[in-house]
Amino acid sequence: MNFKSFNLHPHIESGIKALGYTEPTPIQTQCIPSILRERDVMGLAQTGTGKTAAFVLPILQRLMDGPRKRIRALIIAPTRELAEQTHESMCQLCRRTKLKSITIYGGTKKDSQIRMIRKGAEIVVACPGRLIDLMDQGMIDLSRLEVLVLDEADSMFDMGFLPDIRTIMKRLPKQRQTLLFSATMPDDIRELAQDILHNPVTFQIGDTAPVSTVSHALYPVEPHLKKDLLMRLLDRTDTESVLVFTRTKIRATRLAKQMKKAGFFATSLQGDLTQYKRKKALNGFRNGKYQILVATDIAARGIDVSRISHVINYDMPDTVDAYTHRIGRTGRAARTGDAFTFVTSKERAFVWNIEKVLGEKIESRTLEDFDYTVQARTGTVRKWRIRPPATACETTKGNEVPGRTYSRCLTADTLGF
Ligand code: AMP
Repeated sequence: MNFKSFNLHPHIESGIKALGYTEPTPIQTQCIPSILRERDVMGLAQTGTGKTAAFVLPILQRLMDGPRKRIRALIIAPTRELAEQTHESMCQLCRRTKLKSITIYGGTKKDSQIRMIRKGAEIVVACPGRLIDLMDQGMIDLSRLEVLVLDEADSMFDMGFLPDIRTIMKRLPKQRQTLLFSATMPDDIRELAQDILHNPVTFQIGDTAPVSTVSHALYPVEPHLKKDLLMRLLDRTDTESVLVFTRTKIRATRLAKQMKKAGFFATSLQGDLTQYKRKKALNGFRNGKYQILVATDIAARGIDVSRISHVINYDMPDTVDAYTHRIGRTGRAARTGDAFTFVTSKERAFVWNIEKVLGEKIESRTLEDFDYTVQARTGTVRKWRIRPPATACETTKGNEVPGRTYSRCLTADTLGF
């Protein structure tokens, strides 16, 4: 099958050609015809399957006809990075169509976003918080919306956006086409889908297990040796871009700094950074300035960097779904990738859950000539000894007043220092 069979507008076809897509991916083959027929769709697709173009292409086709300079398609994404990425795909694919896409998300000036809305656009890619804000202020008119996309719905749920989504939904025109994409299908998302989709066509590409083009390995290690093991592992492994996941923002920042100090081209991406810094880190990682990106789960949701050869779980993810999301950052668009997971002795039980979903045992590896026996440095515990006050008839050595007699003269020994 090739893209010609969808009968897309020649201007859209030229966008596809410019991106070098020669044939549709399975999710595109399945979804595009139904979306073109204006059906509601639920796409249960692993990350990296080409799902963005699966909804972008038929939306562009729909928007080629009809009025311009009014918002007709809204795509809601959980993170700013994903919103930017979708917007960029949209812009690349619609380059010759004269359709316009804009982004709306927090962390940047509201005024410039309002100006963009006023200038007129047909497509908005938004994160829930800022969108509600602008809706409350009456700054955005969605009354003529035709298509709504909820992308990475399970991430939105994980990030606590579900109430926001329901608020937005209540204020959108009832008569619309709705598309929902999710890498996994927790019960809450299934419920949401039942509420908002009208007689949907459901597509599931593979199962919700991680992409099959990724090979998995465990590196048993105790917490205090993780940093050294990571650096040694990177020295020994032939990698392209590497995405390292930590549990917390502080750990991401600290590890990136330590790696930089050790001579690696590393930077961090976490939710506390300003939007400018987030963009700089991600762009630097994309264009190869940084080979290593140390990130938290939230910050790395949905990011698409084609050359990620390795995902390293420096800290174990909290859930199997999070594992799926993380490692979905590599092995994208049928390329191969490696997922390494550091596992401490306390975390082994969780590995079984991952193995159950993968349907295979994950190989455990140790690094030759890495000293796993080094003990954790116990911090120097300072024992503050209260120096007993010298009583009237005592003194400390060297402080004797000539001519006085003392019952005791305290020395370092007698004081216990
Ligand atoms: P997505 O799952 O939408 O994030 O897409 C993952 C990657 O696949 C992106 O880098 C896309 O540019 C790429 N991609 C999407 N569709 C195709 C296609 N038909 N042929 C080749 N690459 C594609």
